[in-house]
This record gives sequence, structure tokens and C-alpha cells, in this order.
Amino acid sequence: MKTFALAGNPNCGKTTLFNALTGATAHVGNWPGVTVDKREGVYKGGSENVNIVDLPGIYSLSPYTPEEVISRNFILDEKPEGIINIVDATNLERNLYLTTQLLEMDVPVIVALNMMDEVEKAGDKIDAQALEQALGVPVVEISALKKNGIKQLMDRAVSMPAERKGTTVLKGALERELETACAFYTAEGVKSPLFHAVKLLENDELELENKGAKEALAKASRGEDLEAVVADERYKYISANLASVKVKSVAKEKLTKSDKIDRVLTHRVWAIPIFLVVLFLVFHLTFSENLFFLNGFTEEMGWLPSLVDLGLATEEDGANNFGVEILAIFYDGTVYSPGVILTNFLNLFLDHISDGIVTLMENGGAAEWATGLVGDGILGGIFAVLGFLPQMLTLFLFFSIMEDTGYMARIAFVLDRIFRRFGLSGRAFMPMIMGFGCSIPAMINTRTLADEKERTATVRVIPFFSCGAKLPILTAVAGGIVAAFGIGNADVITFCMYLLGVCTAIVCVLLMRNTTLKGETPPFIMELPAYHLPGFGNLMLHLWDKTKHFVKKAFTIIFASTIIIWLFSHLSWRWGYLPDEQMNESILASLGMFIQPIFTPLGFGSQLGRFGWVFAVAAITGLIAKENVIATFTTLALCIGAYVGEGTEEGIEELSGLINIITADTGITRSDFVAALIAFIAFNMTTIPCFAACATAKAELPKGKFNRTVLFWLATSYIVGAMIYTIGAFIWPVAIWALIIVAVATLVVLRNIGKFDIVKIFRRSKN
Ligand code: GDP
Ligand code: MG
Repeated sequence: MKTFALAGNPNCGKTTLFNALTGATAHVGNWPGVTVDKREGVYKGGSENVNIVDLPGIYSLSPYTPEEVISRNFILDEKPEGIINIVDATNLERNLYLTTQLLEMDVPVIVALNMMDEVEKAGDKIDAQALEQALGVPVVEISALKKNGIKQLMDRAVSMPAERKGTTVLKGALERELETACAFYTAEGVKSPLFHAVKLLENDELELENKGAKEALAKASRGEDLEAVVADERYKYISANLASVKVKSVAKEKLTKSDKIDRVLTHRVWAIPIFLVVLFLVFHLTFSENLFFLNGFTEEMGWLPSLVDLGLATEEDGANNFGVEILAIFYDGTVYSPGVILTNFLNLFLDHISDGIVTLMENGGAAEWATGLVGDGILGGIFAVLGFLPQMLTLFLFFSIMEDTGYMARIAFVLDRIFRRFGLSGRAFMPMIMGFGCSIPAMINTRTLADEKERTATVRVIPFFSCGAKLPILTAVAGGIVAAFGIGNADVITFCMYLLGVCTAIVCVLLMRNTTLKGETPPFIMELPAYHLPGFGNLMLHLWDKTKHFVKKAFTIIFASTIIIWLFSHLSWRWGYLPDEQMNESILASLGMFIQPIFTPLGFGSQLGRFGWVFAVAAITGLIAKENVIATFTTLALCIGAYVGEGTEEGIEELSGLINIITADTGITRSDFVAALIAFIAFNMTTIPCFAACATAKAELPKGKFNRTVLFWLATSYIVGAMIYTIGAFIWPVAIWALIIVAVATLVVLRNIGKFDIVKIFRRSKN
């Protein structure tokens, strides 16, 4: 089977083409650097099957970044039958820079002019035939997104002659040097002598490892660094001979639509406030139980009647009939946001299933322990976690839209200016944003960072970008606070917690980059893709992937964990079964009570009394998978609620039930408890991530850095949690002022040592 490699600049549509060719569902983002590793698949649409390899996006074939090395080595060593060079036709000149380098290799090349749909929409024209003539290789116009021209591309690709001699655009100025170097490599018998010769002139590290080559270079070169000359020659050639194939429509000479949007969205002052507002809207639409604050900001202001007020439901038994139950999905005194509506809908469904199963077991005469294990343990735990799937998907739908339209890339660009001051480049921002999805691909993506210290710092703070699995913790605890104390809005709390994670990351990076991980921040170049409407299919694929992953985890790891949690909370040290009432004598409870004091400075330790151990246990089970935190809570809260006999309603109410029980039991004040709960979220968000993420971090970090990283996570979460609790419970008015003073002082100090110039940040223009 023939093998073709897809090569092209970041964001030119390689993965989209790869998916279109192979039917794969690799992640597509309007976002450079998504594909770090190569990926393979088979194209079956033509007369013969063809193996397709998706290489990482690159701007050149120099060995500066890991992507460049991967792509270069693949083409040179694995000798594919041909290269499909994808060129973003909306960005022709920049993309052809790589093409001129690929042409220097002795490999058949075919150019796929991608995004022709965009070009046509803009009213521009490209003379593909002229380009084909000028380059000397086939050129096919395609649209990977619309799946146009794909078959023609592949038909021409497989019918290319098997051999091709490399050609170069570097004539004139460098002719003599090139000839000498070329002669050397030809004599050595290497494949692609021309390519190696050019790289040698560029003082390419990999070429200089060859001693003979080094001597040949000494003979050939005029003793100057020719890298810049080579680059210059390429650009000159492109603008003189190739750029003319593109004819811009006369009307569009002014500003494109994207430029106009960018004037607002990347505005030097407004960009970040706008971003925060957009983010808040996203959270509001996902988590708010009071959509657009229709029912006022506080309960006192509320004027919309609840279902009880309307006589449609009663306090004790809930909805009167099925119709009202359905109405309650959308409205109960307040209008719910789409995310909450979906959650209510799923939970209604799950509740009926779990009630049905438990009733069936009871009627069938099952033992008490068995009903408990199935109802409270397995179903309680798994359904509690599954119940968050709708909100997670809603949130990720919004994130995917922001990513796919090209907005996230702008944010990376805007933040680069500020990140730089903290010792990170905009490049590091991309893996961080991916961290909101899952830490694992995010940590792998840090391979795009060339600087090892920058990379270490980034891997360490990625878990602070709260991942999908931590979302249930945020939502459930925030929901618990709202339900038990009636303060705040769940969306505001969630939004602030996400920001807290980001701020923690920034502070930690700032500290690390000024102490243990000092170093230069490499420059960050990025193509800003044109805005476009997100592809529906893409979005759905992405969400489907998430759903599969989440559901699979619920029925494997979380399933197993809930059984273990339930068992150990109902087993005595003598291996006897304990009913719910005696749970506090169980193995799990005594272990929990033993470690409970550790969390006292964070507010969820000894002060929570005899039921507080549940918090300690939940935090520990989170180390296996973060969803476990909520599964554990639900399982244990259901059991405790069963005998203390208070507020154990369904859904996220379970936690508020537990909160009420603990409040009644210990007399803890409201402000103390709220501070403790927020500290609990913060602790879980910044502590050691799940097993799988730890394994990834271990693999991605330089040798010997992992143990320290674990300590770093533990320390950060403990400090952040303790700070929040102390501030919240005791001295918050004083503490807020103290924080502001500390922040200002830090800025002043940093400014004086020339690291931070806030005025300059805002004055800097767009580049
Ligand atoms: P990669 O970084 O080269 O793998 O690029 P991706 O495949 O991730 O695509 C980058 C962005 O360009 C995505 O938002 C795609 O939807 C978009 N894109 C890819 N091909 C086309 C195309 O033919 N036309 C248009 N309009 N957009 C495209
Ligand atoms: Mg890609």
C-alpha cells in the first residue's frame, strides 16, 4: 500500500483533510499546534487504498521545534511515496514558504490548495495552472471542510511518477555554495542531496553533526551565516514568481470581515474585558438557575411565582402530576438556563430509573444491604456523576464554538502580550486552554514548547485549569451552597472558581519563572485564522467523543469506586456488616476521621464534626478520578441522610442535605461553612490531578522533576485552600484589603526590576 504524508503549516486544514480522507474523527481546532504527534489512517475512496499520515503543522523543516523534527524525520527516513502539501490558499505566500523547502527533497510532492471555498467567497481567484507550471508539481484546488476536490487530489496523487528529483528556488546569490555542498552529499550517496545541502548552508544543527559536511561547508561558504540569506531568497522568489497567481477581488482591497471583527475583539484595552464577559455568558447559560437574572439578583427581589405558589406542587411531595414535573424542568419560580434544563431533564429520567429499580428490589424481598448497595452505592454514585454530563457538554459546546470560530486563537494572541510578562509565551496558553477539557492531551501538547523550563512550568499548572471531570465538584458544591444557604448564584460561583484556578496558575508560573525555573521566553508567532462559522459535524464529533469518554468512565472506574466506598463504609473492622446508622464505626469512617484533622486549617476538617470525615474521604477518592469526589459524596450523604433523616432529596440536593445535617449537628456558622466549601472546591481544583494525569505528567516532565511536582501540587492546594478559608471565615474584609496591597506592592516591585510595566502592556499595539 502506498503511503502519503500530509504536510503543511499549522492550521492549514491538515486534520480536516485527514478526517475527510480516512473517515477518522481526530480533533480539529481552529488553532495551531493541535496535532503534535503523527497519526495514520487509510483512504479507501479511490482505485487503490492509500495509507495517509497526518504530520504535525510546521512553518519550516529546520529542527527548532519538536513538530519540525517529527515531520522532517518522517519524510526523510520513512520515505513515503509522496507528500501532500496542504496550502492554505487564503494565506498563499506564507504557506508556499514551506512548499519551497519540501520541493528540495527527492520525493514526489502534490500541492493541495485548501480553503478554496473561502477564497471564492472573498471573490478572489487563484490560477492553479500557473502555480503548477511555476512549481513543477501537480496543484489541485480543494476544500477539506466542504469535501470538494478530494477525489481529484487523490487520483492525481496516486498517478504521480514514483521518482522525483528535488528542485530549489535558491538560485542566483547562493549558486556556488549550493553546488559545492550538493557535490559533497552526492558523493556521500545520501538521498535528497539538495535538501541536505540547503540545510547545511543554513548551519542546521543536524547537518553539522556530520564532520565531512562541516568541512565541506567551510570550503563552500563565505564564512557568514547564510540562514537569513536563504530565508530571504525564498521570500523574494515567492513574491516575484508565485504570488501573482492570486488575483484579489478589487472590492475587497479594504478591510475583510475578519479584520473588522478583530478591531473590536483584539482591541488593546477591551479585548480582555470582552473575553471575560463572553466567558461569563458561557457560564451563565450553562449553570444559571436564574436566566438573565429575570427573577432579580436575590431571593427577596424575586417576583416570579414558584410552582408551590401556583398550587401546582407541594413542599412535601413535589409536583402534583407528570405535566408539572415536565414544567419543573424549565421553570420553578425562575427560568433555568439551557444547561440546567438539560440537567433537569436527564435527572428526571435517571431518578425514575433508580426509584424503579429500588422499589422492584424492595418488593422482591431483597436484603437491606443489597438495596443499600445498589440504590445508594452504585446507582447513587454513577447517576450523580452522569447527571453532570449535560452541563459538561453544554460548556464544551461553547468552548468548541469559541475554538472553532477562531476566537480562542485571538485570545492566545491577546494574552501573549501579558503572559510574556509572567514568563510564558502565548504558545503555552494553548495547552492551558486544552486543560479545561482534560489535563492529559493538554500536557502532551506542551511538546510544542521548545524551552524545557517553560514546558515544566506549564505542565505543573495545567491541572489548575479545571478539567471536565472536576466540573461536577464545582457544580455540585456551588449548587449545595445555593440550596443550603440561599446565597449567590451557582453560575457566579462556578465562574469565579474557574478564574481562581487561572489566577493560581499565573501566580505559580510567575513564582517558578523567577526562582527555580528561570529562563528566556521564546518568541511566539502565530497565524490568526480567518473567522468562520463552526462546522456542525465537527462540534458534534467533539461532543460525542467527550460523552463516550465520560460514560465509559462512569461505568468502569466510578462504578468500581462507588462499590468499594459503599462496602468500606458499611464494614466494621471485624468485617461485619453495619447498617447506615452505625456507619461512623466503619473502616472508611475511622480512616476518614483519622485524616480529618489534616484539613482543619482548610475548614473542612475537625470543625465539621462527626460527619465531616465524608469530605476528607471524598477528597482522597478524587485522586483516582475526579468524578469520584461527587460519587463519594452522594453515596455517603444518602446513607447518612437515611438515618439522620433530613433533607435527602434527589439530584444535587444530596450535598445540601449533608450540609444541613452537619450545620444542625455542629452549629457551625454559615460564613464558616461557605468558606470551607469554597476552600474544598479550591483544594480539589489545585491538588494532585487524577492517576492518569499524573502518569502523563511523569512521562512529559524532564527526569527527576515529577516528585517535586507532586509536592508542588500538594503545597499549592493546601495553601490556596487554607487562604480561602482563613479569608472567608475570619478576616475577609481585612484580608481583601491586604491582598490588594500585596498585589499592588508586587506590581511596583516587579515594575522596578523591569519585569512588569503595566502601562506598556496597554500601550503595546498589535504585533
Ligand atoms: P491543522 O492544524 O492543519 O490540522 O488544521 P485543522 O484541520 O485543525 O483546521 C483548522 C481550521 O480550518 C478548522 O477550523 C477547520 O474547520 C478549518 N478548515 C479546514 N479546511 C477548511 C476548508 O477547506 N475551508 C474552510 N473554510 N475552512 C477549513
Ligand atoms: Mg491538526
